[in-house]
Amino acid sequence: MTLVLVALAVFATWSNLAASAAARRVATATDLLESYDRARFDLSQEESLDRKYRMQPTSEISAAHTEVSVDLTATLDHLPAGDRTQRLGLARLQALHKTYTQGFPRVFAAVDAGNSTLAARLDSSITEPALVSLEAAIYADANQQALITAATIHDLRGATRGMLLATPVAFAIGVLVLLVFLRISRNDRRTIETRTNRDALTGLPNRGSFYDRGAQALLGEERNESMTSVLVIDLDRFKEVNDTLGHRFGDQLLCQIGPRISPLLRRTDTLSRLGGDEFAILLPDSGGPKAAHQVARRLISCLREPFMLDTLKFTIDATCGHATSPQDGTDIDALLQHADVAMYVGKAAHSGVVGYDPTLDVNCPARLAILNELPTAIRDGELVLQYQPKRDIRTGRVVGAEALVRWRHPTRGLIAPDDFVPAAEHSGLITPLTTWVIDAALTQCRHWNDGPPRPYGRAGLSVAVNVSARNLLDDNFPVEVREALDRHGVPAALLVLEVTETAIMADPPRAHAILQHLHDLGVRLSIDDFGTGYSSLSYLKLLPVDELKIDKSFVRHMNDEYNDLTIVRSVIDLAHNLGLGTVAEGIEDRITLERLAELGCDVAQGYYLAGPMYADAFDSWILAAVETSLVPTKSGR
Ligand code: C2E
Ligand code: MG
Ligand code: MG
Repeated sequence: MTLVLVALAVFATWSNLAASAAARRVATATDLLESYDRARFDLSQEESLDRKYRMQPTSEISAAHTEVSVDLTATLDHLPAGDRTQRLGLARLQALHKTYTQGFPRVFAAVDAGNSTLAARLDSSITEPALVSLEAAIYADANQQALITAATIHDLRGATRGMLLATPVAFAIGVLVLLVFLRISRNDRRTIETRTNRDALTGLPNRGSFYDRGAQALLGEERNESMTSVLVIDLDRFKEVNDTLGHRFGDQLLCQIGPRISPLLRRTDTLSRLGGDEFAILLPDSGGPKAAHQVARRLISCLREPFMLDTLKFTIDATCGHATSPQDGTDIDALLQHADVAMYVGKAAHSGVVGYDPTLDVNCPARLAILNELPTAIRDGELVLQYQPKRDIRTGRVVGAEALVRWRHPTRGLIAPDDFVPAAEHSGLITPLTTWVIDAALTQCRHWNDGPPRPYGRAGLSVAVNVSARNLLDDNFPVEVREALDRHGVPAALLVLEVTETAIMADPPRAHAILQHLHDLGVRLSIDDFGTGYSSLSYLKLLPVDELKIDKSFVRHMNDEYNDLTIVRSVIDLAHNLGLGTVAEGIEDRITLERLAELGCDVAQGYYLAGPMYADAFDSWILAAVETSLVPTKSGR
């Protein structure tokens, strides 16, 4: 664009300069032509006075002749001489005129003396030839100059015609450039508007735009006595898509949400991306919570259809919370917040769609309070550990205990880990929490393994600590663990770290490196809740882990659910094939314990054996425990 403008300016200047140069040339040529005309006129005057004098020799005619002659000399002297040819031509004119002016006083003197014969001879031999030659030369030069002037005028006309043609073209181009500028600036304005109203990745309306449209819908609702619903949809395990497949796939997935959902919405509805994997849908005049629930269910089920990410077919679940005005809030902020609360509850309960209900709030403000209070709770010793024994199924020997954290809240009472550990994981508070748990658990482990020999099985009692995904992303974590082991003087082999498959899959290469460090320290690693994640077996083979801990959801139902029994059997076989130990958690009855023994499971944990206990209760329990096989039947591996 700038180039066009510069070209246009250069063209305009050039055509102006060309036209004014042509005009200057024309002016010079015309001046010259005038000089030649004057010279021709003077010469003809001179000649006629010359003849007159010979017929009527008066002093007036002689004076007039002299005057004209001086005039002609001046005219010839002032004729400009540019190039060499012109200079030679001019010198010739001046020489001829000189011959003539030097000749006629002698002719006039002969006339004055009455000697007409001498006068005629002088005339024919000197003045006449000089005059004829001068006349011919001036005429020739004047004609030449006339031709030059005509050509110059022609050039000027050409330049003017060019300008006349070029000016409208330049004007048109100028107008075009202006229009393009206007267009660009309008597009820029639109882009800026789009940027402020639209989400950059998906092109969907963004949060700000959602608020505007929501406010409009609520205003309209007051007039029409209708109801507006807000739906908040959050993709389940989206972080894992990003972490395991990469952000490119994550972005692709987010971009496909709009096209997938939009066809199921009305023209008046608004689908917006609030951020991350959270989408909000505004349903003006929704028809109430029941209708909103129906819409939400339709949306969630359509999201369950596989997505194509490059050539990969990918299925994902999503959770939706919804709130409807006026019952759940009369402004868009309240509706969004309540739909969000419902969505969180839906996520925790694994129920795809949840409508807001004020009782749900009981958990949510508490969730915020938890985040505020947790740092003080850690510092002020409000956290406490319970220990749940783990026994070797075949020998009955107590091999260790899992440390399970609780929060003794001064006003809320005992808070279960499920109610604050996930919040701590999201906020980063999990790092000081894990540090505290490891410290407390190792203190206890040291106590179990110290002192005089106890009835049985006390020596070598290990303690298992649960660690979260964040710990597996923290390069400093193995260093902290080693320092804690050193500080407490506990052999690394007595510490078991339980990590979930999902935690490993959050960033497999990094988790792998950290697990390797921990393994190198001699710490034992266990994969907790095994079977609930979706780690690939080939990947599992590469991990430096020591045992698989079968999730209680399979163990608890393995007697009634054939599928669960199959899973438990497969996990045990798989673990043994990979040279790993197996722990079954959530054993609640004897039959299950026996079944596990039959299947060759190594270690048992569950309420049937013992629930989680505070440290002193655990001490008493272990004193009473008898080392004997837990199951009467012979279990074979
Ligand atoms: P988990 O690591 O799978 O722990 C086992 C959970 O199952 C414990 O719940 C335990 O009390 C419970 N349980 C044990 N035996 C039975 C049984 O026979 N039946 C049933 N239904 N449940 C049984 P708890 O203590 O509520 O812990 C829940 C989860 O909280 C843990 O699951 C673990 O993921 C997390 N957690 C607990 N303590 C910590 C901790 O210190 N750090 C971290 N990061 N997470 C922790
Ligand atoms: Mg555990
Ligand atoms: Mg578990």
